[in-house]
Amino acid sequence: MSLPEVMTAQRIHEFGGPEALRAEQVPVPQPQAGQVLIEVAYCGVCRHDLLTRGGAFPRAQMPVTLGHQVSGHVSALGEGTTGFAVGDRVMTMIYTGCGTCPQCAAGMEALCSQQTPAFLGEDHDGGYAEFVAVNASTVIALPEGVGLAEAAIATCTLGTAYHALIGRGGLTSGQTVVITGASGGVGLHAISIARAAGAQVVGVVSSEESAERVREMGAHEVVVSPERKFAKEVRNRLGVQADLVLEVIGAPTLRESLHAVRLGGTVVVLGNVEGKEVSIPPAYLILKEISLVGTKSCSVDEMQQLLGSLGRGELRADVSEIVPVAQAAEVHRRMESGANLGRVVLEVKGG
Ligand SMILES: [Zn+2]
Ligand SMILES: [Zn+2]
Repeated sequence: MSLPEVMTAQRIHEFGGPEALRAEQVPVPQPQAGQVLIEVAYCGVCRHDLLTRGGAFPRAQMPVTLGHQVSGHVSALGEGTTGFAVGDRVMTMIYTGCGTCPQCAAGMEALCSQQTPAFLGEDHDGGYAEFVAVNASTVIALPEGVGLAEAAIATCTLGTAYHALIGRGGLTSGQTVVITGASGGVGLHAISIARAAGAQVVGVVSSEESAERVREMGAHEVVVSPERKFAKEVRNRLGVQADLVLEVIGAPTLRESLHAVRLGGTVVVLGNVEGKEVSIPPAYLILKEISLVGTKSCSVDEMQQLLGSLGRGELRADVSEIVPVAQAAEVHRRMESGANLGRVVLEVKGG
């Protein structure tokens, strides 16, 4: 198959509102040594994309094609690239590191020790385009039974939640877990992961409207707490404090999460939605022997395990809507207007 020379990409040349995102014709990228060129089938839209476009991350490459949740087919290989063949169904990881340091060699390029890991669709061109070139070390072949649309959102939702709950939190069957911000994209997928792990799941949300989705996704209990005071209610419902709290919100609820966890329990901090600081009396951690743990993104190994579970139907990736890529700016506009759209996926080639 001969590749076209130009393609359509949804790009930004300067930070701004949804109108900054515009379709333009650009050259199809050439895969460099060790890279894979992917013909994009779907690309997920994440709130992170809105932040990038709006200028929250000033070091973003400019101009840049947005999109860090990509699935598609391999259409060309760079020099010396092994492990893939043209036509393979694949998805991408979010971060690219040096590829050779111990963390990268272990498939955890998000924690590269040699360079600041590059974020797909921010530090280099991403998936709101017909083609994207990425390092083969950050590409994963899809098993049978995993659809391209669900694969597009798998890293940013299921992958993030799996690494947080299982990899960092050590969640095991029979334990109780509290998930704050349970109705958001990561929160809902964390419910799915925690259930599949055999845990008792309590979702915390701020309104009755969001509670329904959280119940549907399988939470055993839902605590509606507009004032973000949920520790007492969690204890009432469970009869005990939680083994693990997954903090998806960040500063506004972190202290309450420390109250909700049991002696010797773990609080895993995943979210930082308001980017604010929080003060924590060290006594909380000392007297309860709480482990306070950070979490960033999943490893290639974790993602492969998850794709296996997804293919066997043990987990769900919850795509809420599939929209043509030409409407990317419109999707941003709707999300920015406050609409909670779940995980929207842009259709590029489809499949
Ligand atoms: Zn994301
Ligand atoms: Zn590295």
